Amino acid sequence: MKRFGNCEVLVVGGGPVGAVAAKTAAHFGAKVVLIEKRSTISESRRCTGLISPRCLKEAEVDKGVVVREIRGGIIYAPSGRGIKIKARDTKAIVIDRPLFNRRLLEQAQEAGVEVLFSTEAIALDGDSIKLKRNGHIYSANAKVIIGADGPKSKLAKWVNLPPPTKFLLGIQAIVPYEPEEASFLKILFDHQIAPSFFAWVVPAESGVARVGLATDKKRKIFSYLKRLLEKINCKALNFTVGLIPIGARKKTFADRVIVVGDAAGQTKPASGGGLYTGIVCGKIAGEVAAQCALAGETSEKALAIYDEKWRRKIGKELSIGMLVHRFLAGLSNRELNILFNLLDNQMLLDIVGNYGDIDYPSSVVNIFFKQMKNQYIKDKSIKIDYPFLKV
Ligand SMILES: Cc1cc2nc3c(=O)[nH]c(=O)nc-3n(C[C@H](O)[C@H](O)[C@H](O)COP(=O)(O)OP(=O)(O)OC[C@H]3O[C@@H](n4cnc5c(N)ncnc54)[C@H](O)[C@@H]3O)c2cc1C
Repeated sequence: MKRFGNCEVLVVGGGPVGAVAAKTAAHFGAKVVLIEKRSTISESRRCTGLISPRCLKEAEVDKGVVVREIRGGIIYAPSGRGIKIKARDTKAIVIDRPLFNRRLLEQAQEAGVEVLFSTEAIALDGDSIKLKRNGHIYSANAKVIIGADGPKSKLAKWVNLPPPTKFLLGIQAIVPYEPEEASFLKILFDHQIAPSFFAWVVPAESGVARVGLATDKKRKIFSYLKRLLEKINCKALNFTVGLIPIGARKKTFADRVIVVGDAAGQTKPASGGGLYTGIVCGKIAGEVAAQCALAGETSEKALAIYDEKWRRKIGKELSIGMLVHRFLAGLSNRELNILFNLLDNQMLLDIVGNYGDIDYPSSVVNIFFKQMKNQYIKDKSIKIDYPFLKV
């Protein structure tokens, strides 16, 4: 077996989160190698690329990746009733996702990270990790390994980390589309189309939209997409599928290993978005990995600080997101229709439009549930577990 050079931090996975973790570790002075099993950056449209302006800033990526600004949305009930939410300013942006990934990897390289494509981590073997590259097997040593290897993380499996709470399956198509309002997206709640989650129509590059849905009923995903496309009267130019882990792993570190991004299940459970949270956690992972590697303290106990730090930063937000997901997933179409009737209230919609934040929805969720609670007391026809409304 051939030997690979040693490094202080090895990052497995060249997605956006791995790139940010690698760049940060290099900034903190570590010698960093990032490996990516694909031969090039994925051009896949697996991700809608809907993020907040804050996320772009956090990623330190220029506005050249932005293909559209979003200033509001129409949210549809199963009945077809639409609630329009208008924001005063840009609440979200749609990005060219492969270009975004490319920019992040370039930044990592500029920071001194060695990026190796066509290189796959295939096993952990005591103190070393086995890599496959161009048909050869190599053995490499790293003081700390960051697993940023996506939702089906092998790193997490090799060190026996508990799984995320659940996996949704997402499917997305690119369709020809001329929106009535160029800066408005559409969200559809309907168990006939996206059981337990929702579907979306996001205007993207000129003349096209990214249309998709996520669900936990994975086996029927193609028929759901067909139904969605029929409903919005569009034909798919192409489509992709991908897993969305929700409910972060209860433990995200082990001896010499930490996991981050989708590998850790750090996506927002209410929306499935994982770029902002992954990038925030990627920075923490890179910093902790570099500091521990340089100090020679790479035990499970030393790396536990990573878990503490990221949970302090976004743990509460993810927990509230999980409650919101469970709540919405548990409602029938009839109950969703009632909920929409309750919410179609101008004052509430103004609050959401003005203060809504796709990265930190909890601020609005609190107002939302207070309103729900008041309405619930008046309207007993909606069967919602009362203690839940105390969130
Ligand atoms: C349909 C869909 C729509 C989405 N839309 C949005 C959205 O609008 N906004 C948002 O914020 N999030 C969205 N997400 C989620 C978002 O795409 C992910 O959270 C994000 O890509 C996570 O980044 P990551 O770097 O952790 O993982 P990934 O992007 O999955 O990257 C992991 C990388 O690791 C590589 N890899 C895996 N195993 C190995 C190995 N053994 N050795 C070497 N390399 C390996 C893979 O090839 C891959 O490049 C969406 C997801 C889906 C499925």
